[in-house]
Amino acid sequence: MSIEKFKNPVDIESVRTRIVECPTMKEVHDLIEQILPGWIIEYLADYSADYQHLRYNWKEACKMIGVRPAKIMIVEYIGFTDEYSLTRFFAEFFTHVGFVVRSRAEIITCSKCNLALPGRTEHEKMKNAGLQVPDVWSETCSKCKSV
Ligand SMILES: [Zn+2]
Repeated sequence: MSIEKFKNPVDIESVRTRIVECPTMKEVHDLIEQILPGWIIEYLADYSADYQHLRYNWKEACKMIGVRPAKIMIVEYIGFTDEYSLTRFFAEFFTHVGFVVRSRAEIITCSKCNLALPGRTEHEKMKNAGLQVPDVWSETCSKCKSV
């Protein structure tokens, strides 16, 4: 995957203005699709029950902002340098209305129930941090594995 295509367009200020003026999230989505095609990969309903702390953190973050949890938004790339600042702007915009925005490198999707699971590296980090996570990483959640 080349991240080059997710660099800021030249008219970044007008993009910010247009996004903020969108009346619905559907229009925000469509506008982002126009500006950075392929950036948004999918929307997931929730994290798998295997990762209760991720569910908890999301709900607490929403409580603090005063919004209801919406969806987990999976995108190709969130850049931390200036030339990718629009990807951060989009991510923050969605976060403020109740979404969790994560990159595909961090979050995968259980192929059976479509809930969000951390990727292998993220799982390892959580495990090392002493968080309550499944002992062994899997690309299928434990509920789906047991049926
Ligand atoms: Zn599952």
